[in-house]
Amino acid sequence: METHPYRVAITDCDHGSIEEEKEEFSQIGAELILAQVQGEKDLIRFCKDADGLLNQYALLTRKVLESLPKCKAISRYGVGVDSVDLKAATDLGIIVANVPDYCMDEVASQTVAMILTLTRKTAFFDRKVKSGEWNFHLGIPIYRIKGKTLGLIGCGKIGLEVARRISAFGVKVITYDPYLEKPPQEIELKDFDTVLKESDFISIHCPLNDSTRHLIGEKEFKKMEKKPLLINTSRGPIVDERALIQALGEGLLSGAGLDVLEKEPPDSQSPLLKMENVVLSPHVGFYSVESISELKRRTAKNVSEVLMGKRPSSVINREVRGKTRASISG
Ligand code: NAD
Repeated sequence: METHPYRVAITDCDHGSIEEEKEEFSQIGAELILAQVQGEKDLIRFCKDADGLLNQYALLTRKVLESLPKCKAISRYGVGVDSVDLKAATDLGIIVANVPDYCMDEVASQTVAMILTLTRKTAFFDRKVKSGEWNFHLGIPIYRIKGKTLGLIGCGKIGLEVARRISAFGVKVITYDPYLEKPPQEIELKDFDTVLKESDFISIHCPLNDSTRHLIGEKEFKKMEKKPLLINTSRGPIVDERALIQALGEGLLSGAGLDVLEKEPPDSQSPLLKMENVVLSPHVGFYSVESISELKRRTAKNVSEVLMGKRPSSVINREVRGKTRASISG
């Protein structure tokens, strides 16, 4: 019988194939099992001998982690690690890692796609032509993109990618980001109110937390002097949706492009579903065949690196340093 030096378990995942993960672990001779379980009892039963875990949604509580004596690393498919009790993992010397940047290209392209769709009214005209109306007058006025100003709320990895892409259209980019000390040369750092006031397009790229929940609401819509387009591909609750619907109704905005909503999916009665100047997508910004493949490969790599004695590139619980179960060089 074949013996493996390591055993790695995927607690659960909702993607169809695990080819990338298999390939990564075959390189270190590790056995990979797909447990596909939820709940403490089953997680302990299927993962108790695992040297490492790949995890999507299954909750890795202290009780579960305390029952995995060999586990040296947990890698989460994606950015958030809410499913893992980080304190317990750290206490037990388990490294927790994530993959923070597998879909920057996709979200940035989704954002620019929404700006282009709304400015050139492509979705609107598509609906009209298919319903038998061949008449461009139905969509006027349409304004030139070149020379407009895009205001980014948050200029991290995705914001920066959006700026790079939209600059090719001759759009000026300004940003409000309280934690950004020095933006790249082509982006001007401004205060919040100036971004609201001067932007023709406003695009949100900050994280959702207590200080950004409803960051854009009634007061902010009133400060938007240029009747901008609002794009949100970040997280729904950053925008007060009730106030957004009201602002669209009052003409304070020219339109909105929303990949994320306060409630996903939206109620069938939501006015947003009926507005011609609103473009919606079902929280798809992260997705492409390539981004998911990269996510799977890098999630697996985090664990295989720990098993090979290396520190993965994105460790969440840095406090674990010096007390890891795995012996890590450097
Ligand atoms: P990032 O951490 O690289 O950048 C976030 C930026 O926001 C940072 O520069 C930070 O300084 C700034 N920021 C923090 N608080 C702020 C505030 N109050 N006001 C303005 N700026 C603030 O993150 P990222 O990789 O660029 O991702 C941005 C967001 O995109 C994520 O938080 C996530 O919610 C969202 N996202 C969405 C999808 C999707 O499928 N639609 C996929 C991935 C990420």
